[in-house]
Amino acid sequence: MTKADENEQGKPTGQDARRFVTTITRQSEDFPAWYTDVVRKAELADYSPVRGSMVIRPYGYALWELLRDGLDGMIKETGHSNVYFPLFIPKSLLDKEAEHVEGFNPQVAWVTHAGGKKLDEPLAIRPTSEAIIAATVKDWIQSYRDLPLLLNLWNNVVRWELRTRLFLRTAEFLWQEGHTFHATEQEAREETARMLWVYRRLSEEWLAIPVLEGRKTPGERFPGAVDTLAIEALMRDRKALQAGTSHYLGDNFTRAEGIEFLDRDNVRKHPHGTSWGLSTRMVGATVMAHGDDDGLILPPRVAPYHAVVVPIWRRAEERSAVEGVIEQLRGLVSDAPEGRSVRLHVDGRDDVTPGAKFAHWELRGVPFRIEIGPRDVAAGQAVVVRRVDRAKEVVPLAELAASLPERLARYQDELYQRALAFRDDNTHRVDDYATFKATLEERGGFLLAHWCESEACERQISQETGATIRVVPLDGEREEGRCLIDGGASHQRVVFARAY
Ligand SMILES: [Zn+2]
Repeated sequence: MTKADENEQGKPTGQDARRFVTTITRQSEDFPAWYTDVVRKAELADYSPVRGSMVIRPYGYALWELLRDGLDGMIKETGHSNVYFPLFIPKSLLDKEAEHVEGFNPQVAWVTHAGGKKLDEPLAIRPTSEAIIAATVKDWIQSYRDLPLLLNLWNNVVRWELRTRLFLRTAEFLWQEGHTFHATEQEAREETARMLWVYRRLSEEWLAIPVLEGRKTPGERFPGAVDTLAIEALMRDRKALQAGTSHYLGDNFTRAEGIEFLDRDNVRKHPHGTSWGLSTRMVGATVMAHGDDDGLILPPRVAPYHAVVVPIWRRAEERSAVEGVIEQLRGLVSDAPEGRSVRLHVDGRDDVTPGAKFAHWELRGVPFRIEIGPRDVAAGQAVVVRRVDRAKEVVPLAELAASLPERLARYQDELYQRALAFRDDNTHRVDDYATFKATLEERGGFLLAHWCESEACERQISQETGATIRVVPLDGEREEGRCLIDGGASHQRVVFARAY
């Protein structure tokens, strides 16, 4: 087992471990290349024979499943039921809501032939399910007693994208789409806000990604929505990423479909709708919000493995002693009570050096590495190394298993605090257009500035700088100011950034 990369204690140094990952482009040199390297080399996803489509590999899928299960739990806790609707949507249904069809048409993939002949009516491969759900629930909603109707779908959708990037923008992606129907506007607006809050919790509590929340400007709204709320996160290249959206649809879809219910006052009314979605894009967000030059840094709640044990030995008798201790550790961890379980993996590969194992798991962002060698066995200890800062700690074996849940909780919180500090350092208040442009070029990040609510001013800023209004904060601090472009009156700052 002795290899050149091991020091005299048989353990590779951090410097040695880094040699194995030199094939990853440095984050500071070329962020997009770094991202693609990490996604592919950490085996999260791969390209497919169809351009713009993505294969999600086991490690990436395990991450997605943890994220998905976390969100699914919160969706159910807030009273929604999971359902399934078909992949194919008849063209006539999609055509019913004019703004919706106009917004989605360029991205829709159509099935025109099947069973060896041309279909009477083309079928859209769902880009989203508002239209088919409205057509179906028309029969389910007759009275106010049938409301609210709270549905959620886990599925795949297709939106034909010309420029794609793994997880961030793909022609086909996995997501959940919620669709709800309510008797009143107030209830529907409360639902829209509630689901934005659920997305915020997923992002902050599960993915350790702090978000800003607010309303989209009319130009950035979902096609067919009255109001779109969104959460926005900052990536480590100081660009923004829209992390989740929640739409108040008014009665646009229910009126187009002719859905009516008999209300308590005996008047027939159109229900008010909402829809909200969060996708596999959040896997990409997790990569870009936390990762570093050596690869992924995963928040424990969505890390497929919390800790990886690397056994270190040279001679056969050392091996059996080391493996005996690891078995004890494994037993203690698997006996942990519900709620304190730790996803522990033992890397027992014989043909891989410890140094290569260190780099392998660093690339995959595992929060803790546990090194156990003959000296550790003799001293009744293990060396615990944190991925995020490589801090090493010698921990008595007797305490190790019991201490892991607290270590993971602390790590989760520290990742969030780290991302929050990064966002604070990269959020700038600017008051004139020249400073705005200079700040955007030199520093990037979120720019808080005044805007008069004119679409022309919004468009000019976007065309000249590439920055868009990410959100108008919902509870933004009131502050009188002058629009960057035309000096028009503004009562609060809005959030600008270059975005994915
Ligand atoms: Zn203006």
